Amino acid sequence: MAPRTKVVLVWIPSHVGIPGNEKVDELAKLALNKEVHDDKPVIWSDLKLKANTHLEQLWQTDWDTEVDNKLHDIRPNLKERPVYDERLNRKQETVVSRLRIDHSLITHEYLLKGEQQPYCTACECPFAVKHILVECADFC
Ligand SMILES: [Zn+2]
Repeated sequence: MAPRTKVVLVWIPSHVGIPGNEKVDELAKLALNKEVHDDKPVIWSDLKLKANTHLEQLWQTDWDTEVDNKLHDIRPNLKERPVYDERLNRKQETVVSRLRIDHSLITHEYLLKGEQQPYCTACECPFAVKHILVECADFC
């Protein structure tokens, strides 16, 4: 603000106590809960944003209600993108991603070979990266 700027404060009375303004305020509050139906054109970008938000919510709901989805553990919120470590090269990042999603040769080779799924000999549960790295006492 410039040193010689003059500031004037003016008190403006609210609508309280003024009958016409009280009625307008009451109607405005009622209008907040009403659905709007009109034939005015909708701006494409507004519609696209609304549609995307709605679809993201549907997708998240489907994602949250899926049963036995191991990927839900590593990415519960679909809007949150995985964070990549810029210090890793492509090959290293691939290894980290495969570990995160539990897709490794040791746990999935049986699918390629048409064999039975391997089980941990100590726990007798399906062989998985998380099991090897976190859960199984035999591997820790
Ligand atoms: Zn085990």
